Amino acid sequence: MITFKMITLDRQNFAQLLADQAKEAGADIQYGFSGTSLLYRETGKESLDGVEVYGVKIKNEATGEESEVTADLVVESSGFSSVLRTSLPAYTGIADPFKKSDFAIVHREVRKLDRKLTETDIYPDHYRYGFFTGYQWTHVHSDGRIDVGAGVQNKESNPDPEDLIKECISRHPSILKEKIRGGRSLCIVGLPLKSFVTNGFMILGDAAATSVPTTGCGAGSAMFAALWAIPSIEASANKGRADISTLWGLNKAFYLDNTRGSHIAALSALRVILQTLTHEELNFLFNKDIMDEASLESAINGVYVKPSLRQMIKTLTRGITHPSTLATLSRANSEGNKMLAHYKKYPAAYDSEKYAEWKKGADEIFHEAPEN
Ligand SMILES: Cc1cc2nc3c(=O)[nH]c(=O)nc-3n(C[C@H](O)[C@H](O)[C@H](O)COP(=O)(O)OP(=O)(O)OC[C@H]3O[C@@H](n4cnc5c(N)ncnc54)[C@H](O)[C@@H]3O)c2cc1C
Repeated sequence: MITFKMITLDRQNFAQLLADQAKEAGADIQYGFSGTSLLYRETGKESLDGVEVYGVKIKNEATGEESEVTADLVVESSGFSSVLRTSLPAYTGIADPFKKSDFAIVHREVRKLDRKLTETDIYPDHYRYGFFTGYQWTHVHSDGRIDVGAGVQNKESNPDPEDLIKECISRHPSILKEKIRGGRSLCIVGLPLKSFVTNGFMILGDAAATSVPTTGCGAGSAMFAALWAIPSIEASANKGRADISTLWGLNKAFYLDNTRGSHIAALSALRVILQTLTHEELNFLFNKDIMDEASLESAINGVYVKPSLRQMIKTLTRGITHPSTLATLSRANSEGNKMLAHYKKYPAAYDSEKYAEWKKGADEIFHEAPEN
């Protein structure tokens, strides 16, 4: 049985709690405005620190009026649309919009259950991994409802996740037609940005692609990054200047002091290669126990585990009839290992040349998924 090291909560209540706490701490939350781009000066260097951000352009959604707001530090947490960072020059290396292949598409529905029929129409809560290169789940709520969902790589050749869950529902007469809520959305599963900061600017959450690539779960990473950003922001306030060297503490916290970042990067490398396997190949790996509960549990919880010698021997003996599948698996493990080792060498402090060299190495290891 796989243990999910996650907690379930009511996201609307939780958001309200966080907003109330922020207000209590002195935050002034203004609704009805959107950020449209950053205000920045160029320093003349064509590198990550080639800009100094000093504010943001905003739009009043009700009147359409646009204005400029200056700030010592701008923090972007606008989700995967990442409107602000993408307004920076490309040479910073943090301005590229996410690609189609950086996303999974997820569809979920919460429906009522016929309690009488559930006595015979039994299904345990489950997450099914490797399902059409993604995953599918059912989760029975205590109040007689069921949450049915599926997520697949965002690619035309994949089946639509809505069709996958409709098919699942059609096999269960106890799931009633009435839909209580649900919907579909993209979910970022790509490689995180290699730096979350430049002068006067910080990026958190989905805008920085920090979600667990094997599940698309990003709330935990977004909140951890926000916590880990605090010392750097305090240091910048004390110094009177939010420069890249001081804000770098967030990158160091995410990639070096806590292993979350390096594990997410290694899992990203793994994901890109494993999603080239077909549904049948994945089934084969699960049926032969080559992909087993232990490795799956780690991956779901955002932890990359290097395969042991025992596992490698098991893989070779059980998978001998499928050499090409094993070759793909072996490449995925090898790239995952390389990513993990490379991210352990993440620069502890900002140095333009050292960072550029490290970034080049990371780019070389990471093989991009082909676009549709
Ligand atoms: C169907 C589905 C199920 C998921 N389930 C889970 C799960 O179970 N667990 C989990 O951890 N994650 C889950 N995720 C992923 C999770 O929702 C995200 O990782 C998380 O919400 C990221 O938080 P964020 O604050 O970075 O971005 P968001 O939650 O996307 O918040 C961004 C905010 O910025 C606002 N915004 C956008 N543009 C602008 C702008 N220009 N100006 C001002 N404001 C702007 C948006 O309105 C929004 O309020 C799921 C995603 C999907 C689609």
